[in-house]
Amino acid sequence: MYEKTVLRVSHTEENTDLLGPYRRFVIWVHGCCFDCEGCLAPNTRYGAYDEVSITALAERIVQSGCEGITVSGGEPFLQADALAALIGAVRMERDVGVIVYSGFTIEEIRSREDFLPLLGCADILIDGRYVRQLDDGRAYIGSSNQRLHYLTGRYREAGAAYYACPTRRAEIKLTADRAVLIGVPSENVLRVWQAIKKKSGGISDDF
Ligand code: SF4
Repeated sequence: MYEKTVLRVSHTEENTDLLGPYRRFVIWVHGCCFDCEGCLAPNTRYGAYDEVSITALAERIVQSGCEGITVSGGEPFLQADALAALIGAVRMERDVGVIVYSGFTIEEIRSREDFLPLLGCADILIDGRYVRQLDDGRAYIGSSNQRLHYLTGRYREAGAAYYACPTRRAEIKLTADRAVLIGVPSENVLRVWQAIKKKSGGISDDF
């Protein structure tokens, strides 16, 4: 059914609740067609990436035990076929929910036939470009023009409580050789993060 066998991926995280209800497997895809001022994930546009086997990634997601997948970027719909293939492979093994963050609006997505396979997999879509001037500090969502669409009933109840969170949440994760920012940060966390980046000599990444 699907031709794609690899996905361009900037980063993955297992078992985080920073980008959707319950424990999630988060995939930051590489590459974006937009150029939002103040982009919170520049590494997904200019940083390193891997071409990951869809079969191997599906296996990791199944084994992770996460309730669902969140796809962010970068721009997920530039790899709509590959992501639909990945989600289809995971759902053959386990019932997982899917949340997609996209710079495209839902109207733009619906007008593109090549985008529909991924839209059809999503339970929640958070849509629209990030507009720094409209950044209102809302938890989990970058700016007030961006909308949260419940495309199925899967997360309606859990999402109502989750997205009503009054404050932003993000984590700075330290590994043996990297510092990684995950989530949608508050201004304070962003300030701390930028100071870390300045001192880190290029071993830090934003996701
Ligand atoms: S759509 Fe997202 S990744 Fe792309 S430029 Fe805008 S904020 Fe950055």
